[in-house]
Amino acid sequence: MEHKLVVVTGVPGVGGTTITQKAMEILKEENINYKMVNFGTAMFEVAQSQNIVEDRDEMRKLDADTQKRIQKMAGRKIAEMVKEQPIVVDTHSTVKTPKGYLAGLPKWVLDELNPNMIVVVETTGDEILIRRMSDETRKRDLETASDIEEHQFMNRCAAMTYGVLTGATVKIVKNKNGLLDEGVEELVSILRY
Ligand code: AMP
Ligand code: MG
Repeated sequence: MEHKLVVVTGVPGVGGTTITQKAMEILKEENINYKMVNFGTAMFEVAQSQNIVEDRDEMRKLDADTQKRIQKMAGRKIAEMVKEQPIVVDTHSTVKTPKGYLAGLPKWVLDELNPNMIVVVETTGDEILIRRMSDETRKRDLETASDIEEHQFMNRCAAMTYGVLTGATVKIVKNKNGLLDEGVEELVSILRY
């Protein structure tokens, strides 16, 4: 049996992973058990095993064909898991590469995953800029607030095309400063089944 598959997206630093983890903890208490799968980690495992990168933040700088090859392999791995249980995929609607925006879910990945819902986690460019500056665990790109807003605009566009191609619904969830719990509650309510 195929289980539900929800894709959670957001620009780096918006807190997509955090909000998803918190929502899943709450759902677990209700016996709603999604498995959270990080698409970047699945890609990194492939890239590392082929000695292509040493750091996950190097992947988006690779040439587009290499990124797409790894992306396809990660997509296939995740598609296998949805046969076992409901899945939340933590990923990006688009990836900002030196040569432009790369679709996080091009059609061959969508065909594998067949998502029911695409969630886009957002806040203002200013808030994301500050969150990136205070995160020392990652090699975040230095961008202005308006660069980040352009990226978020492209992410919305890409997310809606994923909806058009698959019939998945597209939900925007805000993760504003000091209002994490509201975002978590909204995500919980749409993940309930
Ligand atoms: P993250 O930890 O979510 O920031 O992901 C780490 C890296 O994985 C990103 O910077 C991208 O290089 C890559 N990545 C994650 N999801 C995708 C995707 N759907 N398509 C292509 N690359 C991705
Ligand atoms: Mg993340």
